[in-house]
Amino acid sequence: MSIKSFHNYYGGREAAARSGQTFTSENPTTGLQWGTFPLSDAADVDAAARAADSAFNGKWGTLSHSARGRLMMKLGDLIGEHAERLAELDTAQNGRLHFEVTAQIRATQGWMYYYGGLADKIEGSVIPLDQTSVLNYTLREALGVVGVIVPWNSPIFLTVMSIAPALAAGNTILIKPSEVTSASAIELAKLADEAGLPPGVINVVTGMREVGEALVAHPLVKKICFTGSDQAGRAIAARAGERLVSCTLELGGKSPNIVFDDVNLDQAETGILAGIFAAAGQTCIAGSRAYVHASIYDELVERLVARTRKIRLGDPMVTATQMGPIATAAQLKKNRDMVARAADAGAEILCGGDLADVPGLPHGFFFQPTILQHASASSELMQSEVFGPVLAITPFKEFEEVAGMANDTAYGLGAGIWTRDIKRAHLLARRIKAGTVWVNTYRAMSYSSPFGGMKASGIGRQNGIEAINQYLQTKSVWCELGDEIADPFMMKV
Ligand code: NAD
Repeated sequence: MSIKSFHNYYGGREAAARSGQTFTSENPTTGLQWGTFPLSDAADVDAAARAADSAFNGKWGTLSHSARGRLMMKLGDLIGEHAERLAELDTAQNGRLHFEVTAQIRATQGWMYYYGGLADKIEGSVIPLDQTSVLNYTLREALGVVGVIVPWNSPIFLTVMSIAPALAAGNTILIKPSEVTSASAIELAKLADEAGLPPGVINVVTGMREVGEALVAHPLVKKICFTGSDQAGRAIAARAGERLVSCTLELGGKSPNIVFDDVNLDQAETGILAGIFAAAGQTCIAGSRAYVHASIYDELVERLVARTRKIRLGDPMVTATQMGPIATAAQLKKNRDMVARAADAGAEILCGGDLADVPGLPHGFFFQPTILQHASASSELMQSEVFGPVLAITPFKEFEEVAGMANDTAYGLGAGIWTRDIKRAHLLARRIKAGTVWVNTYRAMSYSSPFGGMKASGIGRQNGIEAINQYLQTKSVWCELGDEIADPFMMKV
């Protein structure tokens, strides 16, 4: 199969890297080279940031709020129409199941419609002051160019989640996609032009970490929305801090999924498996630590292991496949090494634990879905993100004990609670330090409900009405309506 070639896209035009250099991405299912992309540097980021800034100070900035919202909705329509094609690009680069990615991309239409609808509902307020002769009101203004940096696991979904509130607020966008999955962001920017958004509203520059660093450092970029690892998030926040530019950070997780003894076992079993093994465990909200009440532990573990052994690995474009490959060779090695170290440290592998052979795909990056038990609470497996299909199970007896276990990591992104006892569920939901808590479900998400992390899982919230505030700044306007002007030099002493 021929290797596809992509370009940067900014100011409504394709552009090669100014240096002329390119890099190659691989298809993790076949292990073969798939596409070439510009290996951009700071000069390309500068050109794209200028294009984004011109659009902000030009057509996009002067458009009415409702016209802006309607263009966003039109882009939502186009994303829906092109969902399968966009999903093919992502599946070819990160190995996620094609039908699952298509559904996820279709769901992003909801983000464009929701925030498109909010575009003309951004209101300031009139402040009731004690000085009755003064009119004081607030204006809520866009920031300018918003830099969006995203990882490889859900490229379009995470990009749209980041750009929708920023666009609705009137900003323009400069995206640095993951070097693993650059193609779909470029196509998204082209669709924005097709929808009628002025050139320069959505821009994409591809490349390695250095491109992200140049974006964060660029003086025209007024806000960063970053989704990725906590290590990169810390570096980005430090750099942005030097420039006094704010960041929304959506980082990693080590989320607990807690099963009490009064559950419907079928539901809990499905919830635990889907919580960890969806997208081969490569999701920030993966329920990678399961805590199961001691009285049902053996039975549930037996069921989980039996089902896990039957998961069908294969080509993610084939509908019968239940789990695709790991996105990169480096990530595959990380999975294998972390499981090996966990076993060396005393954890017991109940199933999986190594690379998987998939007939017909000898060079694919496949890893067996893996379950371990008896990992110590302080071990690497229980504290660090694997970002792969690896579940650690631990028994518990008491409410207080499991509340402590759930909070015993640096992260705080998501948590699952499985119980029929409504009081216990809500009391535990209050105790868990995580941005999202699911009761008798897992992974549910909507454009209308805030999402984000506590502790090392991030700063700020995406989704919901409040997300738009992160892309606006408030100006207070004071106007004296009376004839008397306070004169500090005429004060009686
Ligand atoms: P990563 O942090 O290595 O890279 C993410 C992006 O940041 C890439 O585009 C990369 O080039 C860029 N980057 C890396 N270092 C940078 C720096 N110092 N300055 C500027 N840009 C930089 O993450 P990844 O391996 O691509 O993705 C996996 C991580 O993403 C996991 O930790 C996962 O939990 C997290 N994630 C979080 C969410 C969420 O919503 N909380 C969603 C998906 C993934």
